[in-house]
Amino acid sequence: MEKQTKSGIIYGDQNFFVPSHLNFGAYVLQKLLTHKRGQTALINGATEEQITFGEIAQKIVNIASSLSRLGVKQGDVVAIFSENRIEYVLTALAVYYSGAIITFFNNAYTKGDLTHALSISKPKYMFLSGELYKTQYEVIENTKYIQKYVLYDDAEMRSNCLHFKELSEKHVDIKSGNYFDFKGTPQTCMILYSSGTTGLAKGAKINHLNLIVSSQQPMMTDRDLTPLMIAPWSSTMGIIRILKEIAFGRTTVFLPKYNEIQYLKTIQKYKIGLLSVAPPLIVMLYKSNIVKDFDISSVKIVYSGGAPITPESIHQLKSRFPHMNVLQGYGMTEATGAVTEDLDNSPREGSVGRIVPGNIIKISDPNTNKTLGCGEPGEVRVKGLVLFEGYVGRDMQNDYDAEGFYKTGDIAYYDQDGYFYIVDRIKELIKYKGWQVTPSELEAVILQHPDVKDAGVTGAPDTLAGELPTAFVVKQANAKVTEQEIIDYVSDKVAPWKRLRGGVIFLKEIPKTASGKILRRELQALLSKQRPQK
Ligand code: AMP
Repeated sequence: MEKQTKSGIIYGDQNFFVPSHLNFGAYVLQKLLTHKRGQTALINGATEEQITFGEIAQKIVNIASSLSRLGVKQGDVVAIFSENRIEYVLTALAVYYSGAIITFFNNAYTKGDLTHALSISKPKYMFLSGELYKTQYEVIENTKYIQKYVLYDDAEMRSNCLHFKELSEKHVDIKSGNYFDFKGTPQTCMILYSSGTTGLAKGAKINHLNLIVSSQQPMMTDRDLTPLMIAPWSSTMGIIRILKEIAFGRTTVFLPKYNEIQYLKTIQKYKIGLLSVAPPLIVMLYKSNIVKDFDISSVKIVYSGGAPITPESIHQLKSRFPHMNVLQGYGMTEATGAVTEDLDNSPREGSVGRIVPGNIIKISDPNTNKTLGCGEPGEVRVKGLVLFEGYVGRDMQNDYDAEGFYKTGDIAYYDQDGYFYIVDRIKELIKYKGWQVTPSELEAVILQHPDVKDAGVTGAPDTLAGELPTAFVVKQANAKVTEQEIIDYVSDKVAPWKRLRGGVIFLKEIPKTASGKILRRELQALLSKQRPQK
């Protein structure tokens, strides 16, 4: 049970089973062996491929022992660069089991994103789809980190390439599977990319202990509901949830990418009971013109996370589909996923639920660091067993307060029953459909345009997407550049979710502090003056 102390610190339950001799992969393997071996674990809704829990267990051991034969050692980084597919999960679990470190690259990454992420994690091995091997080979090879590629599909292979089947089908006795001991010391097992509170994407280090605890955090729905997952497994929301489902032992259906018809068809075909979504999908569901052509009456719970959702969207969904209940979660990469969540079926309007076990939360005045009490909005600060280890190669002094709490950059308050309400964000982060967009990264791209003298980026509120990246631009003297030209210039250089969908507003000057920092609050104020929300 959660506990609130007089000092204003809220403790989630901290009683977890932490087997100090097991790494996360070995821990999941033990769990898998207690599940029904013949039960389907994963279904790819697009290809209809399936795998059972028993098969996953066998493949983890096969792949891990192949990795060791290839020379993968504890501490080596292995990357996956692919859309969601069954082989993805098998690779990740085998890497945890082998004691190496896994990292994930989104399959929509542009050359710039990929180069940046590669420079953080410096993987030696990469598992990828045949398509990406073909289209991104030059970029990856240029960075000189990767020694071996493992391809998920048949493709033209170079000498430093292996086919996934060569690793996964070499049968090894499960009992003889050899894994690196966890030895009680938390050790990095995963690098995820997050901008944190400011700047470009950084590599957040997650350890075995974080994952063992996170996979024991309670699931908020009963075992009989079949979940459908759409979030890419390269994202925190995606990977943490799929790992939890596998440890939990529930058949999960997933899709490699979003397509409205396919999504609805999959719900109907597999009688999905739980949708795990980012907020825009809720809007899509209640606004959809084609949803009436499908039977989606099996859906009992829609779980939304990763970005704020308005009470209005929840009302709209529930009035169109009275059989659905919307539950919310608030979390972040740095807390290995959930910090607060609706843990039962009775959410409170506007709230993101109560503290999730494994976390410790306080609300602090961001200026004075004073701990605030019930009903007082302040910065959410977290620590606990799921708190990450820090960012790769970065001094973390400014990220923690004096008591070792991570400063999230989110503003929230809690009520007398411990329900949290997110009211603002003070960090430099835009969330477009739940995706992280870093203003300073877009500013750097816009500034490369020869006709641009200065730029500042912020998020414009939007019902469907949450926020739309919007640029304020100061032109060079006599420059004739247009809004569309800047939008197109940026679109060519960034991943799809980072495009300037909120447009470009030309200004004479970007508001800044005396020390030259962009005053983002003023950009927000200018935005609401120029483009009042309808
Ligand atoms: P990420 O690491 O990509 O999951 O991003 C974490 C950030 O997303 C948080 O620090 C919040 O700013 C935002 N976020 C996540 N979930 C919610 C939510 N339910 N409501 C409001 N903001 C959220």
